[in-house]
Amino acid sequence: MARVINFSAGPSILPKPVLLKIQEELLDYQGSGQSVMEMSHRSDFFMGIIEQTEADLRSLLNIPQNYKVLFLQGGASLQFSMVPMNLMHKYHKADFVITGEWARKAAQEAKRYGEVHIVASSEDKNFNVIPKFKAKDFSSDADYIHYVSNNTIFGTRITNFPDVSGKVLVCDMSSDILSRPIDVSKYGIIFAGAQKNMGIAGLTIVIIREDLIGLVPNLPPMLDYKVQAEHGSMYNTPSCFSIYVAGLCFKWIKDLGGLTEMEHLNNAKAKLLYDYLDESYFFAPTIQNKNDRSIMNICFLTPTKESDKSFINYAEIKGLINLKGHRSVGGMRASLYNGMPIEGVEELIRVMREYEDLQR
Ligand SMILES: *Cc1c(COP(=O)(O)O)cnc(C)c1O
Repeated sequence: MARVINFSAGPSILPKPVLLKIQEELLDYQGSGQSVMEMSHRSDFFMGIIEQTEADLRSLLNIPQNYKVLFLQGGASLQFSMVPMNLMHKYHKADFVITGEWARKAAQEAKRYGEVHIVASSEDKNFNVIPKFKAKDFSSDADYIHYVSNNTIFGTRITNFPDVSGKVLVCDMSSDILSRPIDVSKYGIIFAGAQKNMGIAGLTIVIIREDLIGLVPNLPPMLDYKVQAEHGSMYNTPSCFSIYVAGLCFKWIKDLGGLTEMEHLNNAKAKLLYDYLDESYFFAPTIQNKNDRSIMNICFLTPTKESDKSFINYAEIKGLINLKGHRSVGGMRASLYNGMPIEGVEELIRVMREYEDLQR
């Protein structure tokens, strides 16, 4: 069977060269006579993998020396608990920018540990815009600020966050990490599940500034950044295969030319689809404000719910799968993560034009 073009929001499409490398090394990883799924996490082979993976991530994101990289489990969702558990140490309060479902869930969870101050929210607009906020809107007595850089479900992103230097900025980058260059030194913590833009499920990457480690004593060891950092993310068995796949994705991005080139490609893919949506008489983008548009998850509608459904079926027959939008938005969503080649977007637009012509 030919491979489909997978627009899933997560788990999601992987770069084909990464899949081929996994296949090539599956039975015998570099002369070890075993697969990465079978080897001891304390073996020299696996130690080589985790060290190289961290080194490649550090080089891609230019991570400063005073930051630790942790390879954890529990998904981005566990960070909704770990962040407040580990950071609410002084004021027992955090500032949240609510731009979608994942920010809302994180705020909900933080309420278990302290006070949650909502700085801005676009919930009343079903999150189809980024709300306005300024640096002076943040509390002077919050342990940290939490925001989500890319809103996976609604297809928006925060393109420019105000300068809040001096405050601890925590960012959930699950659906756009490694899509473009960022300045890690602006952040206290960056976290992201690997299964959207850098690999497969089972791995969550946490990049944390060292002075934020160990602020709260006596946490359960698995949930304590200090324990995880002291054990090099091996307090228990890490998700070895997911770490290996992330490492292959990092190498693939480096070989492409790094994050500047990755951003270039991602911008080109998103522009193709948005340009088409903006001119189409049949399809319409759900996000009107161009500055708020995600380049990773692009949401769009046809004139009726019935034709949304019919288009999704039509596309599926043509080998384009997982285009159904999240139930809270409806319509369609095309996720164009790093692993999606530009040819996949071109094929989507071709099929959309074809469907549009059939409606005339
Ligand atoms: C998918 C997603 C999550 C949840 O990730 P899990 O790894 O499934 O816990 C959290 N935040 C954002 C922005 C996401 O896109």
